[in-house]
Amino acid sequence: MQFTRSLLWLVPSSMSLASCAGPGSPTTDICSATAYTPNYVSDVNLKRWESVPIRVFFQTNTTVSGVNIENEARQGFDEWESELGQNLWTEVTSAGSANLVVKVQSSAPQSTLAETTIYFFQGQNIITRAEMTIYTWPSLSLAGYAGTSSHELGHALGINGHSSSNADIMYFSGNSTDLLTLRDLNTLRTAYCGFGVLAKSAAPFAGTPLVSERITCPAN
Ligand SMILES: [Zn+2]
Repeated sequence: MQFTRSLLWLVPSSMSLASCAGPGSPTTDICSATAYTPNYVSDVNLKRWESVPIRVFFQTNTTVSGVNIENEARQGFDEWESELGQNLWTEVTSAGSANLVVKVQSSAPQSTLAETTIYFFQGQNIITRAEMTIYTWPSLSLAGYAGTSSHELGHALGINGHSSSNADIMYFSGNSTDLLTLRDLNTLRTAYCGFGVLAKSAAPFAGTPLVSERITCPAN
């Protein structure tokens, strides 16, 4: 606290607090759309966590035809890590200590494969918490849950929206290979500026509304 106060004294008197990159300013940690190409940054509204890895809690433990769906999800999440060479998520044992809570649930509403909701302060890029629901479908191949989970983790990490190309895993219904493309990887790299510098962002002003966006991923 003392350190914070000292820093405030260093703000030149000619500079108003409103104009410096202080609390409440939109965060600028996301790179320009041309930093990592090819990408589909223009298709989506990029957000990001302040730092990675994010803490993930699996609320359910679901077995379908002898296959554990949560383990499929873990494999799907790991795809981003292995392709990017980044530690992006770590598992925790309680919802209270988690950034992202994941549950697997049967009986999909309409034709939803999965959905992810991200929470952030209005006008800011930084995600403060997220929830993911993966629906089990009798018609979905068990191998498909890993790809669906890769897609959902893309949303949870900040790809808010869908690629317009069906080649990319972040196409609204995923892609046929369940593999991440260079465009998928570059779009997430853009959100985190290549992961080289995980800049700390200022906390929002008290009273800034916390808002959420639910990203629904239909089957077709
Ligand atoms: Zn989606």
